[in-house]
Amino acid sequence: MKSFPIFINLIHKPVLVVGGGDVALRKIEMLLRADAKITVIASKLCKQLQDYQKLKKIHVKIKTFEKNDLVRSVLIIAATDNKKINLLVSKTAQGLNIPVNVVDEPSLCTFTMGSIIDRSPLLIAISSEGNAPVLAKFIREKIEALIPHSFSKLASIMGSMRDTVKGRYESSQSKRIFWENFIDHPLVRQFLNQTKKLSDKQLMTLVKRNKLQKKQGEVFLVGGGPGDPDLLTFRALHLMQRSDICLYDKLISKDVLNLVRRDAELIYVGKEEDRHTVPQEKINQLLIKLAKKGNRVLRLKGGDPFIFGRGGEEIEMLMEHKIPFQVVPGITAANGISSYAGIPLTHRDYAQSCIFVTGHMKDEKLTLEWDSLAKPNQTVVIYMGLLALSQICEQLIKHGAPKSLPIAVVEQGTTSEQRVITGRLLNITQKVKQEKLKSPSLIIIGNVVKLRRKLNWFN
Ligand code: SAH
Repeated sequence: MKSFPIFINLIHKPVLVVGGGDVALRKIEMLLRADAKITVIASKLCKQLQDYQKLKKIHVKIKTFEKNDLVRSVLIIAATDNKKINLLVSKTAQGLNIPVNVVDEPSLCTFTMGSIIDRSPLLIAISSEGNAPVLAKFIREKIEALIPHSFSKLASIMGSMRDTVKGRYESSQSKRIFWENFIDHPLVRQFLNQTKKLSDKQLMTLVKRNKLQKKQGEVFLVGGGPGDPDLLTFRALHLMQRSDICLYDKLISKDVLNLVRRDAELIYVGKEEDRHTVPQEKINQLLIKLAKKGNRVLRLKGGDPFIFGRGGEEIEMLMEHKIPFQVVPGITAANGISSYAGIPLTHRDYAQSCIFVTGHMKDEKLTLEWDSLAKPNQTVVIYMGLLALSQICEQLIKHGAPKSLPIAVVEQGTTSEQRVITGRLLNITQKVKQEKLKSPSLIIIGNVVKLRRKLNWFN
């Protein structure tokens, strides 16, 4: 460890910034957030700093930097584009043992600030000790996604509760257990996920009633998107990382599953070749049983849970059993695949509307509104339609769609395995057979498919 991480209180403390340009401005804005007493020495100021001067947020000296300017500062930042001045500031500060940072000059710094995630009073700073600032920023973005802004409010609330908790729990172990249960309590989690508003007063009542000792389970019905893990929402990732048990479908890609909390138990409830799906009723019962035992159960579904996902039925059951739950939307196959296949679902010249239907057959038969599906100037997206592809094409032609209407079938869309076969209603079945496309495959029908020739960007 070359640098020792500390968090320093700068409230009303004198800090000197040498430089008055955009780079100095960025540092000054951070220092203002920390309530430091800022003096700026510069030959001239950028517009924003002039405004800060007028508002008396900073004290300004328009002059050239001299050694004496450093006296009394607790911290110094040099942000000029003049190497000589930067060097002089650094040397003088080091001579006086005042911590100094020279922007973009690690060799002249005695401290650095790292990449910061500000959820005050919760602060996270990441440093690569000057080796890889871009990596530190990359990590910051990942952590940003995992820590919603509501953590800021919660940290304040927990701070204000400390004395009360101290008074009620004597040993440090019982205090720790109290806080662990508190953070994990469904009400607090709902507050963190912004699904519930909780006042400080309500939280205090929770402490006093001592309700927190009982662990209450809940279900997260989460859309896992079409395959590419980068298409998950922040909230999906957040809940995936908080679950105890995960029930997942066949559609969930390995890369997405890898992001579920490492210690969570994984239960597969999807279809396997030559085996029947776990019946929906059994899944519902399992969700209820596991949640009632106090688990945070992640019900991870492909795409969006409310689009051909039977998500509605699952939460209906939870509702009946009074089990708390939340639903997180996902990118549905139609959205993800149209983007990754370069086929816009609507287009001013080709399609003014778009219909999503299921091609799932009952007793080898499809019952769809063929007349409306065969109409021009629209896009039809068919989920679960691979097995019925020849029937679909025949019916559309029979109900007036041109034989030459463009159609695409996309296998494992949005993943590195994505395959796109395009053709016409009259020849696509043959092509798909030749290429041996398998499930999951999505069908897109309409003139928009022509655009792929121009707009194909992925792979
Ligand atoms: N709830 C899901 C759909 C479930 S139905 C969603 O919103 O996307 C399952 C069907 O979705 C599959 O048969 C297939 O038609 C389609 N599908 C889902 N993911 C897919 C993918 N990555 N590539 C191609 N089709 C996909």
